[in-house]
Amino acid sequence: MDLAKPSVGDGSGSPQQDLRARFEAQRAAFLSAPPGRARRADALRGLEQALTRQKDRIIEAIAADFGGRAAEETLALDLFPVLNEIRYARRRLKQWMRPRRAPVGWQFWPGRARIMYQPLGVVGILSTWNYPLFLSFAPLAGALAAGNHVLLKPSEFAPHSAEWMRCLIAGLFPPEYVDVVCGGPEVAAEFSHLPFGRLLFTGSAAVGRRILRAASENLTPVTLELGGKSPALVHAEYPLRKAVRRILAGKLYNAGQTCVAPDYVLLLRERAAAFVEAARQEVASLYPRLAANPDYTRIIHTRHYERLARLVEDARGKGAEVIEINPAGEDCNAGNRVFPPVLLLGVREEMAVMQEEIFGPVLPVVLYRTLEEAVAYLRARPQPLALYYFDENSTRVNELLAATSAGGVTVNDCIMHVGQPSLPFGGIGPSGMGHYHGFDGFETFSKKKGVFLQARWSPLSLLVPPYGRRARWILKFLVGA
Ligand code: NAD
Repeated sequence: MDLAKPSVGDGSGSPQQDLRARFEAQRAAFLSAPPGRARRADALRGLEQALTRQKDRIIEAIAADFGGRAAEETLALDLFPVLNEIRYARRRLKQWMRPRRAPVGWQFWPGRARIMYQPLGVVGILSTWNYPLFLSFAPLAGALAAGNHVLLKPSEFAPHSAEWMRCLIAGLFPPEYVDVVCGGPEVAAEFSHLPFGRLLFTGSAAVGRRILRAASENLTPVTLELGGKSPALVHAEYPLRKAVRRILAGKLYNAGQTCVAPDYVLLLRERAAAFVEAARQEVASLYPRLAANPDYTRIIHTRHYERLARLVEDARGKGAEVIEINPAGEDCNAGNRVFPPVLLLGVREEMAVMQEEIFGPVLPVVLYRTLEEAVAYLRARPQPLALYYFDENSTRVNELLAATSAGGVTVNDCIMHVGQPSLPFGGIGPSGMGHYHGFDGFETFSKKKGVFLQARWSPLSLLVPPYGRRARWILKFLVGA
């Protein structure tokens, strides 16, 4: 597939016209018959069954996009969380859709109030390549549960997955219900100008800003799922070996190309040497080989590989100690796109690696003297998408949770909070805005409509001009006047 070439429609018009026509077809279909509970449940069930049937094709498509990614990682980190989201939504759909009674202040008695969740219409999902299935279909599950029609635009950097999703969706749903649009940045830019009921974008902050600008023209509400530098703070008393094992597993899944991977470690100064030694042993046990090992994922494309290499060289040039861990001493280069795990010691703020999100298997180790110093370091930096804290002392854990801000947190491990449909997922500040997963996905893609039901007779109907004794009597109850 030619990434540079727009590939939107069936070729009958310009890409822009095709995209607009597909959007309008969805809007007309939604307005004529918004999906009720049975249709939403069928859609979720159909999706779940098709995904289960097509396991092998998903594994193949994603491995082709990466030039090598472990089937186990695709099953555990792409397919499982999507199935989990779909099942969670399907089982709770009836309860979620039910209007909720809302309390009414006594001043308004005997009126009543309720909250209704209604679909937004046609919603847009713009996803990225690192977990192509999860980042496309987890929002899709929320959008379908909420009763919307959906246009999905996967990333051009995972073209095999995008094409597989297009075929799967075309086989399951009419295009005026769910449709997948393939293409590069110009198609994505056009997509972001459509007047969606909501647009959910997953990707970089730079593109996120463009999305916000484009969406503002239509006052389209936007959910931004971005990234950032997610720290892992290890308390001085936490068993080091266990921390290293869990941090490295979280860092090296998908070769670090995970939005919630620990970006850097905050470690007690005296533990630096032991950390490096434990990391060497741990990498050797997780990945005895890197190049000749189907478990070690490749970097998605050469440009990204070269960016990682530049980050390491910049740090080296500015005085960092670079510790490459390549247990079998294999040839790792931009050609095979195998990037070895790298630890960086002695990092400083002016190094690019401490300013931008790494998104690869490079792990700077920042040393602290006291826990207070470490917490101050976290608080002085932009709010990350995820924060990891390793500590068995629950009082300290609660204090740290209260003192710091992050999109989500896992204590004593990495990444686990993302796999819980019961937890809202989303960033804060530069790491994103809005939430999804589970009920938060349903709510994000719904209009939460407040309804007040007035009674046959209400005392407040006495509060009308000409204002006299009766009005003042009512006001006495309301404001004591
Ligand atoms: P990106 O921002 O380059 O691309 C993401 C999507 O934006 C793609 O579908 C692309 O087609 C589209 N796009 C590109 N140019 C566009 C434009 N001008 N207008 C509109 N859309 C455009 O993504 P990336 O940088 O490759 O992804 C990595 C980033 O995504 C990292 O920062 C990572 O942390 C973040 N991320 C976040 C999450 C999350 O759930 N919060 C998940 C995965 C990745």
